[in-house]
Amino acid sequence: MKDGALIQINDLSFSYNQNLALERINLNIKRGDFVGIIGPNGSGKTTLLKIMLGLLKPQSGSVLLFGQKISELNEWHKIGYVPQKVTSLEVRFPVTVEEVVSMGRTGQSRFFFAFNRVDKGAIDEALKVVGMENYKHRLITELSGGQQQRVFIARALASKPELLILDEPTVGVDLEAQSKFYELLKELNQTFRLTLVLVSHDIDVIASEVKTLACLNRSLVYHGTPKEFIKEDYLKRLYGKDVRFILHGH
Ligand code: ADP
Repeated sequence: MKDGALIQINDLSFSYNQNLALERINLNIKRGDFVGIIGPNGSGKTTLLKIMLGLLKPQSGSVLLFGQKISELNEWHKIGYVPQKVTSLEVRFPVTVEEVVSMGRTGQSRFFFAFNRVDKGAIDEALKVVGMENYKHRLITELSGGQQQRVFIARALASKPELLILDEPTVGVDLEAQSKFYELLKELNQTFRLTLVLVSHDIDVIASEVKTLACLNRSLVYHGTPKEFIKEDYLKRLYGKDVRFILHGH
């Protein structure tokens, strides 16, 4: 693995029919990093995330996860995926928090997610890490958006991943829960040494929280520290307007 890079993206391009969604992306994500992938709507964030999860196949270039080509990867348990919100399936067939976490994702093929059961000890431990141990028997649909997010993180943690990929995690989550959520992510990154990749359009929040920003606008416009990103006024260039921006804790 090059310089301890968990994810190596080399000259990656992806088109939907004739529409180029990602253009010649080169991006290495190092072990232990906390990366925020940002960009305006339609900039290719979801497409990149789907490629990293093996759900879309790049037409040119390559993506290596843990030093292996995605198409040959057999260690999907090392990757935890945290979706945006409860799916319609979970609404139609109500499941408890414990049941959701018990379906820790430990296997995945390129085109669909396979859920394997994980043992009770791992479930309890994961729920404890996210502070949801007292909600084990509650229905997932009866929790707030912030609590549901924690349960999804617990599900991802149950298979003891090394890398967590999170999709727009603060959608539908109130401000207080949001700040607790980022505290939890920081702890996972610092204490548990998890590498985090977080896709979001919520720039002013995540720029305060992450170590590294990768900014997409079909091509990779920026990759570096949040501080440098702001200094160079990329926001204005990207979004074409002044955006309220406060960087906390830097
Ligand atoms: P983002 O997540 O940053 O909003 P996306 O990755 O969803 O961006 O989209 C990137 C581009 O690809 C957009 O122009 C979008 O319209 C297009 N696109 C996304 N999904 C599809 C699809 N399934 N079929 C055709 N075009 C798509």
